[in-house]
Amino acid sequence: NVRVRFAPSPTGQLHLGGLRTALYNYLFAKKHKGMFILRIEDTDQTRLVPGAVEQLENMLSWTGIRPDEGPSSGGHHGPYVQSQRLSLYKEKAKDLLENGTAYRCFCTESRLKLLRKEALRLREIPKYDNRCRGLSTEEIQARLKENQPYVVRFKLEDGPLTFLDQIYGPITLNISETEGDPVIIKSDGYPTYHLACVVDDYSMEISHVLRGVEWQVSTPKHLMMYQAFGWTPPVFAHLPLLLNRDGTKLSKRQGDIHVENFKNEGYFPEAVINFIVNIGGGFGKHQRKLFPIEELIVKFNLEKVNVNSCRIEVEKMKDYNRQHLQHIMEDENNLQDLVNQLKNLVLEKFTEKSHTDLSDKHLKKILLLNKDRMDSIYDLLSPHMNYLWVTPTVNAEIFRELGTDSEKVVPMLLSRLELLKESEFTRQELTSVLKDVSNQIGLKYNLYMKFLRSVLSNLKEGPAVVEMMEMLGKETCILRLQDVLG
Ligand code: GLU
Repeated sequence: NVRVRFAPSPTGQLHLGGLRTALYNYLFAKKHKGMFILRIEDTDQTRLVPGAVEQLENMLSWTGIRPDEGPSSGGHHGPYVQSQRLSLYKEKAKDLLENGTAYRCFCTESRLKLLRKEALRLREIPKYDNRCRGLSTEEIQARLKENQPYVVRFKLEDGPLTFLDQIYGPITLNISETEGDPVIIKSDGYPTYHLACVVDDYSMEISHVLRGVEWQVSTPKHLMMYQAFGWTPPVFAHLPLLLNRDGTKLSKRQGDIHVENFKNEGYFPEAVINFIVNIGGGFGKHQRKLFPIEELIVKFNLEKVNVNSCRIEVEKMKDYNRQHLQHIMEDENNLQDLVNQLKNLVLEKFTEKSHTDLSDKHLKKILLLNKDRMDSIYDLLSPHMNYLWVTPTVNAEIFRELGTDSEKVVPMLLSRLELLKESEFTRQELTSVLKDVSNQIGLKYNLYMKFLRSVLSNLKEGPAVVEMMEMLGKETCILRLQDVLG
């Protein structure tokens, strides 16, 4: 029975790293007809960010990852928020105190500080010296009577420990060389991550722990704790580090890797997810094709997950988005949805009144004309596309450049354009109309194009004039040319 969990701490926004962990757990669960559990690890109360849990759940659901059990989904192993399970951790810590694998530590903050200072002076790795391991029962009782504050520490075993990481293979670590006995219950009575994680993974019947490789060093500790409890541990698998493009560690504080940002920038969840599995591996041969999540589930194979750290090149997400956009545009209903979205975006961004045709028909045409070159419909709102939505202010300079011919051009063009049907308002037709007018008046073609580009878009460079005209449509082109006549 496969049961996996995604166990984020609600300390900020869900970013690509967190989503990768969630996604791989989800794919693994669904592949094996198992359960995917969302557990909130909020035992470090100082790092909580208000609203983070809700935001996290929203982002997961946006990407199509729905927990089978969790704070909102419910389930038989709840509550799924660690701060609501404090009595369980206390009880379990007591078990360890009683069987002698944990002990109370009364060392003061100032003693610990001193230890750290001394270690640094000797250029050693600072670690707790396990002094309170040796306290006698009488000493402990006396200190408890005096109400001395204490923490509970877990006794680490000495020597190397080997475990089989399902992704990295056998891993041997000797953690007591670099670490003192870890705190499992803090002086405020809250458990630390290690205790809460082990107790919950066990009591929630987690079969496989799939998490970031930064937790790999904690696994021996966790395995020792399983042993101390007399519990069978789950299988462990660690996912390699995600790095920024420049090879630096992925930082949660970098806004550009927040899942919500991608959503707000018009990315489809399908693009985000395919981008992630493409960097993380797990599907055999490297593929650039976009798959729906159902197909990713079938294809997923834990053994094929990359072991090397992976650099994130967000640019590639655009490829996936374009692919998905092109795919959904083949369906008339989707196209209508995009039209509505585009209209809302335009109305939101450009509040001033302008001569823009926002009819469904026209917007659909714009979408289709841009089908092969936009990554997202938001591209249609980038500054160089403003001419589509805003009437340009015509620059008088441009008339001077074209000289006296400028007086003839616009009326003649207008009379020709008015004769074209909407369906004839295409690049080919427009090219011949523009040429005719130019020949008749004897215009310098370059100046003439510069003039038209400016009148229609106020742009100095950009797409071909006929392309802009096609995109603007008959009605808007005529209105803009009429505006020039005053
Ligand atoms: N709460 C930990 C985190 O925020 C989870 C570690 C684990 O999955 O064991 O990443």
